[in-house]
Amino acid sequence: MGFETLLGNEALKQRLSAALAKGQLSHCYLLSGSEGSGKHTLARLLAAAMQCTQPQKPCFHCAQCRKVLDGMHPDVITVDEPDKKSISVKQVRDACADLYIRPNEGAKKVYIFPRAQELNPQGQNALLKCIEEPPAYGVFLLLSQNADRLLPTIRSRCVELRLSPLPEAVLLEALKNRLPQADGQTLLSAARNSGGCLGQALTLAQENASLLPQTADFAAAYAAGGSGALLRVLVPMEKLKREQLRPVLLQWYALVSAALTAQNGRPPLRREAAAIADARSAADLFSAVDALRQALALLEANVGPAHICGALFVRLNPLS
Ligand SMILES: [Zn+2]
Repeated sequence: MGFETLLGNEALKQRLSAALAKGQLSHCYLLSGSEGSGKHTLARLLAAAMQCTQPQKPCFHCAQCRKVLDGMHPDVITVDEPDKKSISVKQVRDACADLYIRPNEGAKKVYIFPRAQELNPQGQNALLKCIEEPPAYGVFLLLSQNADRLLPTIRSRCVELRLSPLPEAVLLEALKNRLPQADGQTLLSAARNSGGCLGQALTLAQENASLLPQTADFAAAYAAGGSGALLRVLVPMEKLKREQLRPVLLQWYALVSAALTAQNGRPPLRREAAAIADARSAADLFSAVDALRQALALLEANVGPAHICGALFVRLNPLS
């Protein structure tokens, strides 16, 4: 399978595939690009490629790939405190201490920093110490919307992967694939106003669409909390076909993303998003956005709806 589930960015994908084939992946990457440009998708693909046990990496099907894509791999660690504005030095130091404990089951230990630009200089200096001479199994993936906020000493140790905006034709094609029921004009306008980001384009296209029944049920269940109602929404979805499941998950993703931006002050277009924003914590919403993003990645990788819905239930409903 390789990196093709990341749209566009052909030169970058070729470069990574060549490095992977030669066994020359770097131990530290800086993934830069605007919101929705595919940084998270690429980070997940790279992490899967590093843990994959099959010749064609990432294969999406071996146990290691599946765990990475499900967000359940014990050796793929996200370093973030989503409900805090910045990432504390302590968190970086904890990650650096953890680095010296050998991987649980994977070939590598991969640390993903989804908001590397939120590391203050102290945090960056702490990080610098561990990316300078990590153990052979240590890998760092730093994601940033603004690579200039990182110290030159950090940047000089990273291989930078700059994600480019997608051309309109590529975006439109991807939108049509994902939202076959939407009308052409809505998709075209979403593609044009997205700044070349598929994530943005999907959100824009969904903002005007009417809610699917499963989305309305999900919104109510998720805002109310409690696992019973959520399970009643997800269980029947296990029987959907992939092309039926995709628009539902995209709407959930757009809804939870809108709830998250509502908490940051942007008024939501839908009352369902406002209700979710009031009921759930920022940490819950970050984790839900991530879980839905992964569910969509699994769908692209041909994983069955039953597995995806099961994994989603676990991730949307953390034991607390
Ligand atoms: Zn694999």
